[in-house]
Amino acid sequence: MQIAIDGPAGAGKSTIAKKIAAAYNMTYLDTGAMYRCIAHSVLNQIGDHFDNETDIVNIARKTEIRFEGNQVFCNNKEVTSEIRTPLVSRHTSDVARIKAVRDLMVAQQREYAKDHAVVMDGRDIGSVVLPTAELKFFLDADVLERAIRRKKEMDEKGNGKALEEIKNDIESRDANDKNRSEGPLVQVEDAIVIDTTGKSIEEVYQEMKTHIDEARQ
Ligand code: C5P
Repeated sequence: MQIAIDGPAGAGKSTIAKKIAAAYNMTYLDTGAMYRCIAHSVLNQIGDHFDNETDIVNIARKTEIRFEGNQVFCNNKEVTSEIRTPLVSRHTSDVARIKAVRDLMVAQQREYAKDHAVVMDGRDIGSVVLPTAELKFFLDADVLERAIRRKKEMDEKGNGKALEEIKNDIESRDANDKNRSEGPLVQVEDAIVIDTTGKSIEEVYQEMKTHIDEARQ
């Protein structure tokens, strides 16, 4: 069984995907973390030169990404929290718009799905990575609510920013993800759309669970 979960930043995809994976004994693949690893490697190796496509693609080719439980390793270095800094978040869409980078990531994601029952979350899972997935969800939420959720997470980690700044970051990330030509964020026709605005994680989970249980019968 393959479950694809797409949607804009902060819609609750990863929290829900992890919960589904645990409940149904499936493997969760955080595809956003893969693009984040590439942006992180670029920052480490050539600094803030996100207009240099040739170097970025070379770095992406040499970057080995591995998941171990909830931890992410990039070239054998544990980078789980480093890839979530505002700087990496801002530059991830710069690497994710490059076709050769996407081709590398998509190939690895498909390879992974070959031998695992997977729940994958991202932007292009239902459209590009797993177009034949049994279940495709598109999670969305009002941008202000997504910003409030993100602010709460950041405040808990002690690196809080102003709500307006977070909302602007989310809006610009969504615009980049929707408007690129390769693997843009799209709501595919066969996706089940869930608006998570005003809903708890448990409510969204139960709604998705109903669909999953139905598909499994
Ligand atoms: O899901 P997350 O917020 O961690 O994704 C970070 C960024 O990675 C997104 O804003 C997007 O630019 C990119 N991404 C992508 N395709 C995916 C997953 C993430 O382009 N499948």
